[in-house]
Amino acid sequence: EKKVQTKKLLTFEKISHIICVASGKGGVGKSTTAVNLAIALAQQGKRVGLLDADIYGPSLPQLLDLHEKPSLTLDKKLLPLMKYGIQALSIGLMIPANKAVIWRGPMVQGAFLQLLKEADWDVDVLVIDMPPGTGDVQLTLAQQIQVSGAIIVSTPQDLALIDATRALQMFQSVNVPILGMIENMSFFECPQCHHQSHIFHHGGARQTAQTLSIPFLGEIPLDMTTRISSDTGKPITIYEPEHPCSKIYHQIASKLIHVLF
Ligand code: ADP
Repeated sequence: EKKVQTKKLLTFEKISHIICVASGKGGVGKSTTAVNLAIALAQQGKRVGLLDADIYGPSLPQLLDLHEKPSLTLDKKLLPLMKYGIQALSIGLMIPANKAVIWRGPMVQGAFLQLLKEADWDVDVLVIDMPPGTGDVQLTLAQQIQVSGAIIVSTPQDLALIDATRALQMFQSVNVPILGMIENMSFFECPQCHHQSHIFHHGGARQTAQTLSIPFLGEIPLDMTTRISSDTGKPITIYEPEHPCSKIYHQIASKLIHVLF
């Protein structure tokens, strides 16, 4: 009973597991979490891909400081870019940033499936950074692709948790297994006096996970180094591997490896 259950849907020869990182709404740190988890998984010896499918705010070019266009292989597949030890492709590398908002339904589905099916991934785990909420990409993924599981990122306050719960229930309703919930911006520890302030409340995601009987994967504090590193394309797991936040990303990555392999 250790392996995550999967169903008969589209699978890929060279992608062992697809996991998606999702959130109820934007701005909760979903992309930052996806990037650092992907890197932590790679640092723990897995071959990892990161697919940024966040059509409304593709942030992988910024988070990984990655701006080249992917090249094509001989058989005309997109060759994922290599950065910080992971393979990466972003919907943001395919379309100009100012066009993203006018993409709808079939176009979004097409671009997303192209990045999955027509790219030369060769990985143990493909992490998909999902758009927030419950839209076209979620639907395509759930209806067509065999997903090993979803991770829901939420901040601790009630309003965010209501949206996170909705996203979570959407995955459950289409039989995508839930790998667990992560509380991001969980608390703030003053660098001077080490007092912890619970700016957005604290522990809400753990409580929600418990109520919904899904695993709780960890708490990542509201942290300035994490913010700066992610906004400057220098992931904390690469540039400050000993930082407490990097260690938390690693703990969560180990839990995922334990469940998936
Ligand atoms: P989302 O993908 O949910 O929209 P992002 O990952 O883009 O969120 O993060 C939104 C903002 O919050 C970014 O400026 C990012 O640097 C910052 N951020 C994310 N996680 C943390 C954290 N744990 N501590 C401080 N800032 C964070």
